[in-house]
Amino acid sequence: MSPLADRYGRRFPYLRLSVIPACNFRCTYCLPHGYHADPNASQPLSLAEITRLLRGFTELGMHKLRITGGEPSVRQDLTDIMRTAAAVPGVTKLAMTTNGTLLSRRLSEWMDAGLNAINVSVDSLDRAVFARITGHDRLEDILGGIDQALAADLPSVKLNAVLLRGVNDEQLPSWLDYLRERRVGLRFIELMQTGDNLPFFRDHHVRAETLETQLSQGGWQLLPRAADAGPAREYRHPDYAGRIGIIAPYSKDFCAGCNRLRVTATGDLRLCLFGEFGIPLRPLLQADEQLEELVRAIGGQIGRKEQGHFLHDGRTGITPHLASTGG
Ligand code: SAM
Ligand code: SF4
Repeated sequence: MSPLADRYGRRFPYLRLSVIPACNFRCTYCLPHGYHADPNASQPLSLAEITRLLRGFTELGMHKLRITGGEPSVRQDLTDIMRTAAAVPGVTKLAMTTNGTLLSRRLSEWMDAGLNAINVSVDSLDRAVFARITGHDRLEDILGGIDQALAADLPSVKLNAVLLRGVNDEQLPSWLDYLRERRVGLRFIELMQTGDNLPFFRDHHVRAETLETQLSQGGWQLLPRAADAGPAREYRHPDYAGRIGIIAPYSKDFCAGCNRLRVTATGDLRLCLFGEFGIPLRPLLQADEQLEELVRAIGGQIGRKEQGHFLHDGRTGITPHLASTGG
């Protein structure tokens, strides 16, 4: 079957699958009061359901899978999920986004299971600021886990830092020291408004352009956009082993490079992070014989994908916070 494409010619080789909505952190911009389970919510997809889901998506050309959450490492059978996902024919890149709390303990187990790319959220290299943002004084251990991943030659190691005005938006010098010798890709992400965080967003949203000006002045060069690249703008500098990416969802043409679809922990297909609806795939994940029907259902929804999000109008869709979809 030919790869999925939408009305705007975008293709979707990349799936972000949330495996659990729960999280052990309480980041100020995401779950400031911590995770509270909804007693009426369904259980996350089982391993068998996930396997069928991935078979359906690979039929449609998906080859990169990112496991996310909530915090994926809160899920007890995470390593089994990785092993199973890596074995699905067609999955060539298996990535995970994590807050890194179990990284130092589980890295080798996860790599043995097939994990070949990791994004760790580190909003600040300052211990006190990190603790203030996440609610947990765990920076040192998390940075230790990242260094282990580099030493173990994990093929892709990236860090995500959400820019927060007045909190961590003037810390470029410490990041530059960090990147000099480490071959990590640091991504600065502009804070996004979600259903729950409007007052916080108003206080702390800062455009990434200021940072990009500082990078250019410091000799960082913007790389040409690869055809299959996602929405990040990538910079490199000859004196640094690391790279810097800017994810600026409020910038023009951000959605033109969209190459991803999302599935929530309970199996709802989301065409856009800020879309107005989810399409329940779980009923089509109950038996291997449903594969064709599943593939048709996913393919049939792609025509509904909008050209862009409506964040500029303050419309955040059905996303209360990014822990609900995996970001
Ligand atoms: N718990 C994992 C973590 O924090 O890496 C995975 C899930 S988290 C929702 C995925 C990414 O979304 C993280 O890098 C986080 O910093 C980012 N994120 C969460 N809320 C955000 C927001 N309102 N704006 C921008 N990025 C956000
Ligand atoms: Fe948890 Fe990630 Fe949200 Fe922080 S950003 S509260 S670690 S889901």
